[in-house]
Amino acid sequence: MAENGAAELLDLYRTAGRLTTEECKVAIVPDIAPIGSRRDLKHVMAVRQTISQKFLEQKLRRDPKAPNIIVKPRVLVTLLGLDHGIEPDVLVASDSDLFYRPVEIKSYPDRAGKTESADVRSACRQAAVGVVALRDIARRMGVRDVAALVPAAGDLVLRIPGALKPTLRPMPLRGEVDSLERAIQEAPSNLEELEQMLPPGSALDNPTVLESIPNSYRSSCREYCALAQHCKQAAVANGDPGVLGDAARETLAAAGSISRALDLARGTGAPPRTPAEQALAEHLRAAENAYREAV
Ligand code: SF4
Repeated sequence: MAENGAAELLDLYRTAGRLTTEECKVAIVPDIAPIGSRRDLKHVMAVRQTISQKFLEQKLRRDPKAPNIIVKPRVLVTLLGLDHGIEPDVLVASDSDLFYRPVEIKSYPDRAGKTESADVRSACRQAAVGVVALRDIARRMGVRDVAALVPAAGDLVLRIPGALKPTLRPMPLRGEVDSLERAIQEAPSNLEELEQMLPPGSALDNPTVLESIPNSYRSSCREYCALAQHCKQAAVANGDPGVLGDAARETLAAAGSISRALDLARGTGAPPRTPAEQALAEHLRAAENAYREAV
């Protein structure tokens, strides 16, 4: 999508009426700061971040030279008091937009309502990280109402089935952004706070100390972590949807546990507490009805 000055991407946004033919300013950050050798990787990443920051500042100043499309910008998001570099696939903005919107590009075929929902949900979560990072940057640049400047929305670029042509799907990301911001607020804001969660003088080679730190088990943990069996047992005990696989982990994220997902599917327990839970309840009931009809 970045080839020929991102011509295909520009065409996609023009066809959707989101950019005009004059709005053709494209910045491909990896081309501006290419990686020469592994040794200068850190330096190149710092340069990419400086360049990306300059573009974002340009846009915030309403500089007409600010790019309409930024491919692979490098931006920072703060977690646990530390800055982490992330690279959204693309940021897009028309000249009249106040700021950028994140875009995730995936090779999944776009089958409209039949697109694998776990794939869409996972791509939406990635785009939501872009929203959170843009809000964080805007906040650092002195913007007060960051939610108004960077709404909880993004675009997914998927593929027409059987062809290499892209499709554009604007996506509301309210549930994803809310849950990310909640997780960031709940996480210790810096490493000192994390240390305060632990008993004084504790060390991470003590099983009791390790036990007191929340884990986040995934099926891939088995491939690289010696604690996988232990974390899986804890996940099973907590009814973590991740034990059913990554697709279930994504699909059932709004419920938070398998038992809550079952309540939502059956209409038992407390009624849906959030729009995301309501949407999941409807999705699970529709799936159950389809399953019963089929068998
Ligand atoms: S198995 Fe390892 S990587 Fe996975 S959640 Fe546990 S400690 Fe973390």
